[in-house]
Amino acid sequence: MAAAARHPGRVVVVGASAAGLAVVEELRRRDFAGEVTLIGDEPGLPYDRPPLSKQLLAGEWEADRLLLRSPEQWDALDVTYRAGTAAVGVDTDARVVRLADGGVCGYDALVIATGARAVHPPALGAGLSGAQVLRGLPDALRLKAALAGSAGGGRLVVVGAGFVGAEAAAVARGMGVPVTMVDPLPLPMVNVLGVEIARLLAAVHEENGVDLRCGTGVSRVTTDGDGRVDGVELADGSRIAATTVLVAVGARPAVDWLAASGVPLGERGRDDGVLGVLCDARGQATGTVWAAGDVAAWKNPATGRYVRAEHRLSATEQGRAVGAALLGAEPTPPGLPYFWSDQYHLKLQSYGATGRDMAFAVVEGAPAEGRFVAVYGHLDADGRPRQVDGVVAAGMARALRGWRQAVLDHAPWPAQSPDPDLAPVNGPVSSSS
Ligand SMILES: Cc1cc2nc3c(=O)[nH]c(=O)nc-3n(C[C@H](O)[C@H](O)[C@H](O)COP(=O)(O)OP(=O)(O)OC[C@H]3O[C@@H](n4cnc5c(N)ncnc54)[C@H](O)[C@@H]3O)c2cc1C
Repeated sequence: MAAAARHPGRVVVVGASAAGLAVVEELRRRDFAGEVTLIGDEPGLPYDRPPLSKQLLAGEWEADRLLLRSPEQWDALDVTYRAGTAAVGVDTDARVVRLADGGVCGYDALVIATGARAVHPPALGAGLSGAQVLRGLPDALRLKAALAGSAGGGRLVVVGAGFVGAEAAAVARGMGVPVTMVDPLPLPMVNVLGVEIARLLAAVHEENGVDLRCGTGVSRVTTDGDGRVDGVELADGSRIAATTVLVAVGARPAVDWLAASGVPLGERGRDDGVLGVLCDARGQATGTVWAAGDVAAWKNPATGRYVRAEHRLSATEQGRAVGAALLGAEPTPPGLPYFWSDQYHLKLQSYGATGRDMAFAVVEGAPAEGRFVAVYGHLDADGRPRQVDGVVAAGMARALRGWRQAVLDHAPWPAQSPDPDLAPVNGPVSSSS
């Protein structure tokens, strides 16, 4: 069997979360009988991140419910799991990963699944008591405790109205904590959702009592005489008192440990010039190095561009695809990008490409009622959409399934928007409009 001869004997996966787990499970599902080592810098068994800003923060779930697999399921995978051990370097010639405890781990195939780290700039209070990010379980538990202490007096300032910030703001309001949310963009999540849906989100946050300050950034976090956070200063010169500051301004791929390794890292795009581990369309970065999940920028064969997703389902899909490819399986076409976000009663779901610079039309329901399906289309050279490229919906699960299929089918752009006021939106916006 030619394919079997190519199988690596020892697979090392660095990063023990959604993507890393998916690699390991796919290898075993395909009866890979070689050695599998999983290296993760967090203690304990791998857990899921999306509930951190939702059910865990709200106190609806305890931490053990976040575990991705039970101890028994881990045992069955027959993996050497090095928990609480960071990888600090890799020698791709010698095929060895260097560990923080001084150890080394040899591989025939290496999978990089180290995800992303939340950005916390010094001006926004990195290292100060009362200012924090939200990426891991300890962050979520710290924020939860801070919110519990703030309900009787205090204020949470959320810096950044993206997914994580907006979800945390919603949970905090549910706990009765006063919240101010600040973002230099004109509306929450506008770059991802476009103007109409971002307007809906802004309205929902304001109805729920969030003091929303869009269109201006936070220039610095301020402290009291004891070095504890006591507020933020905005770029417009105003000041907001705060007991807790949540910095939710994005994440960067966790590639520091790959410096000087020869593993290709992007040099353009966002993330301070680091685009992630550059891979081909099946997750291969070099002959023996692969990458999956938030850390990986896979080449889109249709556009030739590298794309790094920060979505939970993509992490699992890419991990599975790498596990299969390591064993010589034919690549499966990537699934449709998918994300969801829970904010108050709104359960947003999205498939495909969406964004502010795309045509937009509501095709079912009405955003103002919190039940809708909206479609997005890339604009051609004439500034017109040709096909349905993405969909966002809330409260209309069955209709969403049909429009998801329309995205998969590259269905033609709907001839008429039901509401002429909701013709494609592609212009400048202001938060008051
Ligand atoms: C609060 C929050 C809410 C989210 N909500 C949603 C949502 O609603 N929907 C959605 O689609 N996505 C959501 N996401 C994104 C989703 O969680 C990520 O896309 C997903 O976790 C990516 O999985 P991953 O395995 O690639 O990386 P990660 O989950 O980042 O895991 C990488 C692991 O590698 C470890 N690691 C890093 N460097 C090293 C090293 N040098 N050595 C060893 N280990 C290392 C990290 O500590 C971590 O354990 C959310 C993320 C956060 C933080």
